[in-house]
Amino acid sequence: MRMRTDIVTSNLNQQALADLLKRGRSGHYVYAIIWFVIAAINQLQYTHVELMYCNLALFVAVGTVRAALTRLNKDFMDRHYKAITRVLEICVCAQSLHFGLLTTYIYHHPDLQPLVFPMVLAAAGIVAAGTTTMGVNKHIRLWYPGLMIAPFFVSFAFYYSQTNFVLACVLIIFFVYIESSTRFVYLDYWSSKINSAMLLEKTIELTARSVTDPLTKLHNRAYFNEHLDREWNRAYRNQQSVAVMFVDLDYFKSINDKFGHAAGDLCLIQAGELLAKYGHRAGDAVARYGGEEFVLFFADTDANGAAAIADKICREFRAMTVIALEAKIELRCSIGICCCTPDSYNQKTTFLSDADKAMYSAKKKGRDRFEIYQRDDDPAAQRSATRLQRGRSGLIQSVGGS
Ligand code: GH3
Ligand code: MG
Ligand code: MG
Repeated sequence: MRMRTDIVTSNLNQQALADLLKRGRSGHYVYAIIWFVIAAINQLQYTHVELMYCNLALFVAVGTVRAALTRLNKDFMDRHYKAITRVLEICVCAQSLHFGLLTTYIYHHPDLQPLVFPMVLAAAGIVAAGTTTMGVNKHIRLWYPGLMIAPFFVSFAFYYSQTNFVLACVLIIFFVYIESSTRFVYLDYWSSKINSAMLLEKTIELTARSVTDPLTKLHNRAYFNEHLDREWNRAYRNQQSVAVMFVDLDYFKSINDKFGHAAGDLCLIQAGELLAKYGHRAGDAVARYGGEEFVLFFADTDANGAAAIADKICREFRAMTVIALEAKIELRCSIGICCCTPDSYNQKTTFLSDADKAMYSAKKKGRDRFEIYQRDDDPAAQRSATRLQRGRSGLIQSVGGS
């Protein structure tokens, strides 16, 4: 359960990083642009060359690191989401601190007074917009506005005046307002994330439940029918042979009568476990068809392959003993197989009913065996019939075309 919570949390944090990078896109170079415009209009390229270009270079450099983070490969980002989130937080907060320091410097520099109003206005705008968009991250939400205004406070300790005191009070109110208003953005974002993650988890769970047999945990008949539709069409397109196998437990009613329903259930669970080992290749499926009947589908399998599997299953059932309430229960099964290459003659509806017929034929012939039903005109039958005649416990029953 703990591991499950970790998985959900890490998924949410990975999504939060992707969202944060998306939300912060417009902010990569905004500091550099604003600074360049303000500095160039005030002719700093002539009066304060180092101040203008050093700050511009720093803004561009950090902005470029942020832009580079958005270009990272998704797998890499998912694997290292913690470190990348940290780098992003540092970059965003560094830009904020940098802009705050620069504005404070300009505020106190007698030669740069014409820049004060645009810089303070820009700082207020950037900090309000930035915290609203990036405030879904709890560190950025507090550190971003905090670091922007911190240099003002530090400087006010050295340059005390009534104007500065008023400004400090305004900044405190501004910070508290930003903090309280972005709290809702933060809470709304995370509650919607958590709700949709829970909804997704429930949907996955319900979908899994709707296709799973609760007793054996194998797929159920509804899943099998859908799987068959899909695989039949694929086999039709590729002209590949497919096989279906009905596995019906022999004399199961008498097992229930003799040992009780709970013991019968245990037998079904163990039979399911035995069969679950088969059909692991792509396109294969194992399901409980109903009652004590199981169904297996094998993609790209001819009658020889299906016969070998059925023979193995029969032998595994003979070797298995179910221990229930100190009783040792022996299970046997009868298997009916239908094998064909889907075409206009071999139809999906008769595919299942022919396997069913083969299964009843196995019952009639004494149970604990398999039977194969295959049309004479099927190309796979031509190839495999001779070899199958020499088959082990099963009998091939090739049936005419009409
Ligand atoms: P056969 O060899 O001809 O297949 O005989 P059978 O007794 O296996 O077949 P029959 O159709 O007469 O009986 C099937 C039994 O399977 C009857 C039913 O009570 C039992 N059954 C079906 N579903 C369950 C289940 O979920 N749990 C248990 N314990 N028994 C079940
Ligand atoms: Mg049965
Ligand atoms: Mg049955």
